[in-house]
Amino acid sequence: MTVFSYNPQDRTVMAPSTVRVPSGNVSLSAHLEPDENGNFVYPENDDRFTAACAFSSVANAVAVTEASWGETFRWATNREKLAVIPDAGKDLNAYYARVRGGVLFFHDTDRLTGETIYTGRSGEVTAHEAFHAILDAKRPEYLGSWDPDPNAFHESMGDIGAICLSLQNDQVLELVAQQTGGDLSKPNAVAQLGEELGLAINHKSGHNVTGGPWTRNAINSFTWIDPDTLPSEAPHTELSSEAHSLSRLWTGAIYEVLTGMVNANLAQGQTPQAALRHGGEELLKMQGRLLQKAPEASFRFADMARALIQSEDQLNGGKYTSLIADVMDRRQILPRQSSLLETDFSQSRRVTITLKEGPFAGMEVSHRVSSETREGDTKSLAKCMERLIANGDILMTMPNQDPDQLNLIKADGEPYRGVVRWNQGKATIEPTYVIG
Ligand SMILES: [Zn+2]
Repeated sequence: MTVFSYNPQDRTVMAPSTVRVPSGNVSLSAHLEPDENGNFVYPENDDRFTAACAFSSVANAVAVTEASWGETFRWATNREKLAVIPDAGKDLNAYYARVRGGVLFFHDTDRLTGETIYTGRSGEVTAHEAFHAILDAKRPEYLGSWDPDPNAFHESMGDIGAICLSLQNDQVLELVAQQTGGDLSKPNAVAQLGEELGLAINHKSGHNVTGGPWTRNAINSFTWIDPDTLPSEAPHTELSSEAHSLSRLWTGAIYEVLTGMVNANLAQGQTPQAALRHGGEELLKMQGRLLQKAPEASFRFADMARALIQSEDQLNGGKYTSLIADVMDRRQILPRQSSLLETDFSQSRRVTITLKEGPFAGMEVSHRVSSETREGDTKSLAKCMERLIANGDILMTMPNQDPDQLNLIKADGEPYRGVVRWNQGKATIEPTYVIG
């Protein structure tokens, strides 16, 4: 165990502290000189601070989650260790990229304050990316899906993971107990995710695109709307089919479940800090149980809600079944009467289509879907591709280009979802396995 600089939030919320982490199966892709005590604790004006924070936060997220779920992750990158690239250049973003072997963070100047912000310094942004890697390790088919729901679920898992990790930190617990008295329906630092990055995004665009001084906020009242009918873009007050926007539906629902669990802890006489800490631990365990039952391949939110209820019933004695079923019913994700239908999500099948029109005509595209739950799969896949192509999410290549050597990030900072790969003159559209 070595001591590293660490900020469980970011500097707009609290001063940095330190954390002890095992290096485990996470590696830092940068050389880092230890301080005079043999640790990796630096002042914020030291160049090494970003690398120390990015590594410690990702390694901590992985170690805490492995301990909670009782397993050691095998990465979808096919490398033994998950790589942390603490500062990969100028951008207001962060990514998980299989082809790069792990998670990448960036820096940019805040247009209003003139200060440089490093996404690798934020405990929430780094934990969010770590959870993309964790989910990809557990369910590699999700990043191969063209449907909106698995991508949105990926984003949501990142935010839920960040919330769980925040609630394990004493400094955060003290702050959130002060802000809420334990009532998580009140505004607070764990529900507000990526504050410094969100501020910089708003300053860059010149208006409030995120809804407040955060990148996303888990406190919301969104209810389900068929993602196929949603627009590709929408103001922050409404859902769109874009993954980060749509993720707020699932995150909001799970955050409500967390609020209920913490309320139950308070009702048993726990102090606000203890109730919050135990709620965060329980929520993290719940995610691990969910991934034992979750669909293997592409799914709809209703399927995931059913899997959550099944996992709770079968693996946790039904402790929070009715709390979850209530929330999922209220959010219109899963009606109460169908929440206990037994479903086997372990089967999946591949759906393939050939595109008929436009610049990608003649190219094949496919993904795996969970077999029990889907009808009209080829039509649905064609519709997904139509939307992704119209949105510029598919990168065209020439037969002599190796997609792995290309920049898979669009001009707007979001990764391409798909890229054309050529094999003996035949083109297919493949997932990029990059997510922001
Ligand atoms: Zn993300």
